[in-house]
Amino acid sequence: MNILITGGAGFIGCNLAAYHLHKGDSVFVVDNMSTGSHVNIANLFSNPSFQFEEADILLWDGLKERVRWAQRIYHLAAIVGVKKVLEDPRAVMAANIAGTERVFRAVAAVNPAAQVIVASSSEVYGFNSKAIFSESDDVVFKSGGRLRWCYAVTKLSDEYLAYSFMKKSGVKVVIVRLFNTIGPHQVGRYGMVVPRFIDQAITNVPISVYGQGQQTRSFCDVRDTIVALDLLASCPAANGEIVNVGNDREISIQDLAEMIIARSKSKSHISCISYEDAYGIDFEDITHRRPDISKLKRLTGFSPRWSLEQTLDTLIDLARAKLVSI
Ligand code: UDP
Repeated sequence: MNILITGGAGFIGCNLAAYHLHKGDSVFVVDNMSTGSHVNIANLFSNPSFQFEEADILLWDGLKERVRWAQRIYHLAAIVGVKKVLEDPRAVMAANIAGTERVFRAVAAVNPAAQVIVASSSEVYGFNSKAIFSESDDVVFKSGGRLRWCYAVTKLSDEYLAYSFMKKSGVKVVIVRLFNTIGPHQVGRYGMVVPRFIDQAITNVPISVYGQGQQTRSFCDVRDTIVALDLLASCPAANGEIVNVGNDREISIQDLAEMIIARSKSKSHISCISYEDAYGIDFEDITHRRPDISKLKRLTGFSPRWSLEQTLDTLIDLARAKLVSI
């Protein structure tokens, strides 16, 4: 099968590309390298079925040609990461909304039979106070222009773009709401907690817990995420559906920090940093975020295979190996 992955040099995209190449598919990755990196895809070039172009999704002149070629499109190109979002919300709005619209226009024009998997986010649940989020729950945002919500608004827009093109142009879409994803190739530079804590732990510097660390998250190994995405894309009953993709085990950020210290046998201590110091005053964190994954299970039979402990052990080993090689 011919597969186009936009944003495919990011950490989810590069794992997805490797997985499909391993299955014998042909993969074309486009990425502007804003958060993606050449290192992530370096080992894919030896495979003759892999192609790559460095281009911005807003401007790429090869878009229509590649959309025509593809049977499946994973649209992952987006600006992600809290730090990036707060740094340049204008770029986030443009890349995440106009970029998605451009992809859908191309699909509708030259290849409406292609299957499109659109990456949305658990951020769209916003301030919904439910303990566990399922797909039919309300999305809850506060008014007042807090820029943290830019990202969530762009992802909700992407969902409605997907529905619009499905209804008006017959495009086949699955909308995946990705919950916190972790795994090989993720970096902490843009704010993601697990690679940050691991880098801190293996260098024995304080672990930067924001707030009091009582906020919770549910972390899914990217090696599970990509299997779930492939299963959903292959599942006719998932067409036109919004589906949570994640792991439903929940952990507080304090407990995560302690787990990483213990598993890496680190001498680091935990240092609580106020949100104001971490992100600036214009910031409100989400207190909890856990997916209901029963719809994903019902549609595909999927269950996560990697435990948090196994994932952390893998990532600690990889981070140590990288440190030695520098
Ligand atoms: N976080 C933290 N220390 C860090 C980075 C993040 O305590 O160095 C917290 C952050 O405030 C949030 C959680 O970890 O409560 C997950 O943050 P991340 O940016 O990875 O994902 P998201 O906020 O999108 O869930």
